[in-house]
Amino acid sequence: MIEREEPRIAAFLRVTGPEARAQAEAADRRLASGNGAAGPLTGIPLAVKDVLSVHGVETTAGSQILRGYRPPFDATAIARLREAGAVFLGMTNCDEFAMGSSTENSGYFPTRNPHDPSRVPGGSSGGSAAAVAAGEAVYGLGTDTGGSIRQPAALCGVVGMKPTYGRVSRYGLIAFASSLDQIGPFTTTVRDAALVLQAISGLDPRDATCADRPVDLLTGLEEGVEGLRLGVPREYFQVEGMEPGVKAAVERALLLLERNGAELVEVSLPHTDYGLAAYYIIAPAECSSNLARFDAVKYGARDEDARTLLDTYLRTRRRGFGTEVRRRVMLGTYALSAGYYDAYYLKAQKVRTLIAQDFARAFERCDAIVSATSPTVAFPIGAKVDDPLAMYLNDVLTLGGNLAGVPGISLPCGTSDGLPVGLQVLGPQWGDATVLRVARAYEAARDA
Ligand code: GLN
Repeated sequence: MIEREEPRIAAFLRVTGPEARAQAEAADRRLASGNGAAGPLTGIPLAVKDVLSVHGVETTAGSQILRGYRPPFDATAIARLREAGAVFLGMTNCDEFAMGSSTENSGYFPTRNPHDPSRVPGGSSGGSAAAVAAGEAVYGLGTDTGGSIRQPAALCGVVGMKPTYGRVSRYGLIAFASSLDQIGPFTTTVRDAALVLQAISGLDPRDATCADRPVDLLTGLEEGVEGLRLGVPREYFQVEGMEPGVKAAVERALLLLERNGAELVEVSLPHTDYGLAAYYIIAPAECSSNLARFDAVKYGARDEDARTLLDTYLRTRRRGFGTEVRRRVMLGTYALSAGYYDAYYLKAQKVRTLIAQDFARAFERCDAIVSATSPTVAFPIGAKVDDPLAMYLNDVLTLGGNLAGVPGISLPCGTSDGLPVGLQVLGPQWGDATVLRVARAYEAARDA
């Protein structure tokens, strides 16, 4: 499948064929031994976003600056899947350091949408989403800082879930914005998403933000939506650039949920309009700090023409980072600098609190929130590359979930102009099981 689809889709930066074959043989032995060592993920092949450290496999965060870097360890999520007998197919393309919504900011090449190769797959985890949509991998891992799992899942017509912040260890994830980043799965079904998330979740002493809370995502999965209250946030249906076809598909999905016993209640997320501005201060501020470690000394590429230490830093970073990464490092450094910190960063953090409070209040009135995932379907490659603000609008409906730390899933809910539309389900903090249950109920009703 990879050999057949890659010339058309370009989802992978690197395919690790020989390793995958060895892992598959080991999984076969484990399955054949019949001693109970095999689990549901044993022998199942997956695609990994190029931001998750895989022992010995070149991992570059989609950036030239990390070309040649082979982590000497596994990220916790990877280690857990390895334990479970997973087969790792390779590293998938993404926007550089996960900054973007289309994979066009990759330091290598853009990935193409399997539903229409002239269009983007979404991003930043577009490679993993496209790999699953094209049948190149059974499942994939991505990361979501402002929407980078849910938005590409929506645009590629697959399931993608961002868990509650603190559910999955970030150890070994090449950080973008540490207070927002979460790792999560791409799958073709909601049950598979629950299985993968179950396997990678849970306490890890190597990530102090990873919570010691029980993880049971499968027990209530088939309980349906009868008696659940689903919040419909007014503001999420009025965002700039919402395509009528997307809105219509989502409204049909809401009616279907209602017909299956859910009660739809109108809720309000009054600070929605400020989400994008707050996110684009906080995320760049954190990335400017996180990316300071790429100094040409510790990892990856180094500009060999530089003659002084300072020159080495400057030349390596100028060549190694792409335009969007440099834009964000500059924005973030500025927002954090003395004299501007209070006006920008502190202000953005206050807005973040207001947004978290919006969600907390909304969840007093409902069990989960339902909306579109992205205001648009997949757009043509090149359509938004010269307009960062238009690109940023892709995430208006997802980034609130990251600012508030709540879980969210996107699953396919029909088409608009022949292209997939995503339905987003958001839940309260630690309500990952509810999110999956609502998504599963919609999926069952849709397929009935
Ligand atoms: N598109 C958003 C950004 O560029 C979100 C990225 C993400 O979730 N990693 O920051």
